[in-house]
Amino acid sequence: MEDLVIIGAGPAGLTAGLYAARARLKTVLLERLAPGGQVLSTDWVENYPGFPDGVSGFELVDRMKRQAEKFGIVIQSQEVSSLELTPDKKIVVTDKGNLETKALILACGAGYRKLGIEGEDFLTGKGVSYCGTCDGPFYRDLEVVAIGGGDTALEEALFLTRFASKVHLIHRRDELRAVKLLQDRVMAQEKINIIWDTIPTRIVGENGVDGIGLKNVKTGEESLLPVQGVFVFIGVIPNNQLAKGLLELDDRGFVVTNDYMETSLKGVFAAGDIRSKLLWQISTAVGEGATAAFAAEKYIEGF
Ligand code: NAP
Repeated sequence: MEDLVIIGAGPAGLTAGLYAARARLKTVLLERLAPGGQVLSTDWVENYPGFPDGVSGFELVDRMKRQAEKFGIVIQSQEVSSLELTPDKKIVVTDKGNLETKALILACGAGYRKLGIEGEDFLTGKGVSYCGTCDGPFYRDLEVVAIGGGDTALEEALFLTRFASKVHLIHRRDELRAVKLLQDRVMAQEKINIIWDTIPTRIVGENGVDGIGLKNVKTGEESLLPVQGVFVFIGVIPNNQLAKGLLELDDRGFVVTNDYMETSLKGVFAAGDIRSKLLWQISTAVGEGATAAFAAEKYIEGF
């Protein structure tokens, strides 16, 4: 039996792994994709302490991964299909077999929210993208839209100006949600054109994007904006498939924990973007990963 299974190797899972390894817990860290989580699709991180000049998302998680591995954590590439959880027994069902564990940390993160409009699924990968850092370079000297008014939308819109000839930022209100510093940068960037009070209605194109249908929510006026790329940054949804029906979730589907990262089931902890909380940041994920591992260690001691 394992002491601890951690699901997800983003900043929360990697930090939990680091602390668990240093506590000499028999730990398995599972990741279905590349270690790093959503930070991998972040071009430049400016608000993680210790890097006054900023650091690339890739480098930051690579450093976290190497640090956890230095203390003995092995990241296993396995997809978890389900969990069998009771207060006494925890079974993690993966594509490579079952793992029984005393304690479990869910650090599965969050994924991109979709618009749910005509053309979106069909044109994903053919002009519709959820990651400017990944796909921006394909849009050199082309016109694109970035949808959303949060930190991600503004950061990514600014990144896209390195390639695109014009970035139309489409926001459904007349006020941005993002932190003021990013708002100032966006306002000062002449390649960005903000289209306020507007929602996208459909994405048109056959083999690629030709344009996007827009609707002004105040006037009701509809239009078609010719663009070659549509970048969607309208928030995240928790990767809660494993927790549904087993653990308490909030009304948006994030896993509810207490200050010790304990979920509604004893011995099961959650950390990082999957958690119900105030602030979704790398810095908060790291602290939660450390707390979850420490709380799991205390739980295992009394097992
Ligand atoms: P977010 O803060 O939830 O913002 C989502 C944006 O999309 C909002 O402006 C929202 O509009 C808009 N939106 C939501 N649903 C929509 C829909 N169906 N149609 C059109 N627009 C829609 O999401 P995020 O920007 O991805 O950020 C997620 C979390 O990560 C936040 O806590 C954020 O602070 C954090 N983050 C931090 C950094 C950083 O610190 N550098 C970078 C990236 C993300 P409304 O404003 O009208 O609701």
